[in-house]
Amino acid sequence: MDTSSDLIVARPEGLFCAEGSFYIDPWRPVERAVITHAHYLAANPGLGVLLSRLPGIDVQELEYGEAIVVNGVRVSLHPAGHVLGSAQVRVEHKGRVWVASGDYKIEPDPTCAPFEPVRCDTFITESTFDLPIYRWENPRAVFDGIDSWWRHNAAQGRASVLFCYSFGKAQRILAGVDAAIGPIFCHGAVEPLNRAYAQAGIALPETRLVSDIAAKDKTAFKGALIIAPPSAQGSTWMRRFGDYSDAFASGWMRLRGTQRRRGVDRSFVLSDHADWPGLQFAIGASGAERVIVTHGQIEPMVRWLSEQGLDAGAFKTEYGDDIIEADTAAPEAAAQ
Ligand SMILES: [Zn+2]
Repeated sequence: MDTSSDLIVARPEGLFCAEGSFYIDPWRPVERAVITHAHYLAANPGLGVLLSRLPGIDVQELEYGEAIVVNGVRVSLHPAGHVLGSAQVRVEHKGRVWVASGDYKIEPDPTCAPFEPVRCDTFITESTFDLPIYRWENPRAVFDGIDSWWRHNAAQGRASVLFCYSFGKAQRILAGVDAAIGPIFCHGAVEPLNRAYAQAGIALPETRLVSDIAAKDKTAFKGALIIAPPSAQGSTWMRRFGDYSDAFASGWMRLRGTQRRRGVDRSFVLSDHADWPGLQFAIGASGAERVIVTHGQIEPMVRWLSEQGLDAGAFKTEYGDDIIEADTAAPEAAAQ
């Protein structure tokens, strides 16, 4: 295929639609960008951060399913089921339809709109967890596991500190656990995201900031669940809690040895990305004859796609966002 005719190509700045003269999720400043999800919020909530990352841009909000025409190219956003506000980008030009998935997951998640399959000719899919070993448990079973760990610790008078990515994962956990077990506290990196979710109408249990408790008061945390970003692990901040058990929630916990390497008491396999069957479902539901893979190991997925008779390829991308989700140098871990 003549790549110059491709509707979307990979450029050093990011995925680029030449016909429309815009980028999708650029990792460098560009003139016009379509953003699949506001991961920028994770680093530091607020539009100011987005503007500082992409200087001088005007931000135009789009509802899911609403279309705009950019230089003759019809652009619309569709739910990706990944985190609040995450979107797939559908690009249509002269009868050709391409979809760039951004990050997505198939599992139900009460904190964001469910993944919506979008028919297209060419599907650019993320494939963070593109190995057959990645098969997620029913999320309800994972939350039951978190609840019983928390309940057990509470009965022993211990705090339960759960490390997870602050944006999306933390709120999904808050929405999934049994808030009747005890009080819930959040790290300062998590609480602003909770407020953003609440403002968007997502029901979350009542949470308090850890820093609202006097520094020497450890009793407030007995029996509590504390949600914190992975960066808090091993920091002096942990001294706040007295006796505690800690755990880590991530899709990477599916890998043997990851819990031990993280040095936590427990691990919970919970991801906001599609697992291997989820990727296959989404690719099939797109109806695409051509599939371009980004992130992940790439080769096993490209091989599987070719075996299905699909035109399969890969884009080299420089996304950094889900290294944060992983926080554990995932590619090295996956290679072991
Ligand atoms: Zn993401």
